[in-house]
Amino acid sequence: MARTLIHNAVVVNEGKKTKGYVVVDGDIIDRVGKGAAPAAVIAGCQTVIDAGGAYLMPGVIDDHVHFRDPGLTHKGDIASESAAAVAGGVTSYMDMPNTRPATVSLDAWRDKMDRAAEVSIANYSFYIGATNDNLDTLLEADYASVPGVKLFLGSSTGNMLVDSEPMLRRMFSELPALIAVHAEDDARIRSNMETAREIFGEEPVPMELHPVIRDNVACYNATRRAIRLARETGARLHVLHVSTAAELGLLADKGERYPNITSETCIQYLWWSDADYETMGSRIKCNPAIKSDKDRRALRRAVRDGLIDVIGSDHAPHLLSEKDGDALTAPSGCPNMQFSLPMLMDLASEKAFKVETVAEKTSHAPARLFGIERRGFIREGYFADLVLVRAVDPYTVTDGMSVGKCGWIPIAGVNTQLHHRVEKTWVNGRLAYDEGIVNREVRGRALTFVPPGRDN
Ligand SMILES: [Zn+2]
Repeated sequence: MARTLIHNAVVVNEGKKTKGYVVVDGDIIDRVGKGAAPAAVIAGCQTVIDAGGAYLMPGVIDDHVHFRDPGLTHKGDIASESAAAVAGGVTSYMDMPNTRPATVSLDAWRDKMDRAAEVSIANYSFYIGATNDNLDTLLEADYASVPGVKLFLGSSTGNMLVDSEPMLRRMFSELPALIAVHAEDDARIRSNMETAREIFGEEPVPMELHPVIRDNVACYNATRRAIRLARETGARLHVLHVSTAAELGLLADKGERYPNITSETCIQYLWWSDADYETMGSRIKCNPAIKSDKDRRALRRAVRDGLIDVIGSDHAPHLLSEKDGDALTAPSGCPNMQFSLPMLMDLASEKAFKVETVAEKTSHAPARLFGIERRGFIREGYFADLVLVRAVDPYTVTDGMSVGKCGWIPIAGVNTQLHHRVEKTWVNGRLAYDEGIVNREVRGRALTFVPPGRDN
C-alpha cells in the first residue's frame, strides 16, 4: 500500500491547532504526530508533501446539498457537483430529495446510490423525503445507509408536502431516524406574497423584499412547531438552515440544550445580510431568506457558543439565466459549496469564531450527530478524508472558477476578496483535488451510519 506523509502542517482537529504531520496508508490515517516528522517516518513514505505551514483539516462533511440528479441535470449532476465538492474541500455529502423524481421511494433512493457509486468523486449519501403518504417507505428504509428523513414542514417542494398534523405526529413518534426539517411557515409566506403582489401589481417586486416576504416570523413559527413536536415525541430532530436570532431562543431552555434536537446554519446566513440583496440580487436569493445584520451576528455567536451544531452549504445550483426574475419569481438557491470553506476560514481570520470551530462545525459535528462511521476526525484508523487549506494573498473569486455545472458562484458577484484557498483534498487517501485540478478518476464511497437508538 502506498504511504503518504503530509508534514509541516498545522493540524486542526478536535479543538486544537498543532504543528505536526499525518501519515496516510492506503485509504486510512495511519499516524498523527506532533512537531517534525522523524527521519524514519519520512523514509517509509513513497509520497512526501511539505504543507509549508498550511492548515490540514478533516474533510468537510456537507450535510445539505442539492446535486439536482436525476431530472434537473442541466443545473448540476452527481459527477459535476462532486467535483465542485472536492475543489471546496468537501469529502462527504448528504444530498437532498427534491430531485425529479423526488427521492420519496426506496427505488428512487437506490437509483441515486447506484449513480453515485459510478460517478461520485466524494463520499456520498442521500436523504429520503417525507410525504403525506410514504410513512411505510420511511419505516422500511435502512438508516445505516440513509442519513435521515428530509421533511418540508408545512411547505411544498414538488410533491413533498407533509401538512397533515396526525401524519407529522406519527412520523415524529415512529421514525427510527434523524428528521431534518426545512422550517418555514408556508401560510404566512403565501399571504405575504399576495400582499406584495397587490402593492406592486404588474411591476417587479424588488429583491430586497425577499426577506420581508419570507420573514423571521415564518421561520420562527415553523421551527417552534418542529421543536414542540420533537420535545413531545422524543424524535431526533435536526433543524436545517437556521437563519434568525429568534429561532436560536427555541433551541435551548434557559441555556440547556435538548438532547434530541440539533441545528444547522449555512454559510450564506453567516456571510451576507439582507442589505446585500440590493447589490447581489438573485445571486443570493435562497430559502429561507438571508436576514438582518443583527440575525447574522446572533448566528455567528451561536456558532461560537455551540448552540448551532453544523454549518452546511445548502449548495443549490441553478443556471444564472434561470435566476432572472424578481423577489417572487426568481428561483431560490445558491451554489455556495465550492467556496464555503475558504469563506468560513476568512470569517475565522476576522475573529467571528475560531479555526478549530470551523473544523468542529463542518466535519466533527456532522460525523458525530449523524453517526458517520470512521470519518470527520484526523484520528489513526479513520478514513483519510483530508483537506489542506492555505492562507494566501487576497484574491477575487470569479464565475470562471466554478467547477460545478452552473458556471457561477454567488460571491463572484461583487468585488469581495478571499484570503484562503483549498489547495489539496484527499478522499479515502486519494488526492482528489490538487491546486486547481480535480482528479476525476477518484471514486467516493457510500457513507455508513450508526442511526439513533443503536449502540455505538
Ligand atoms: Zn436546501
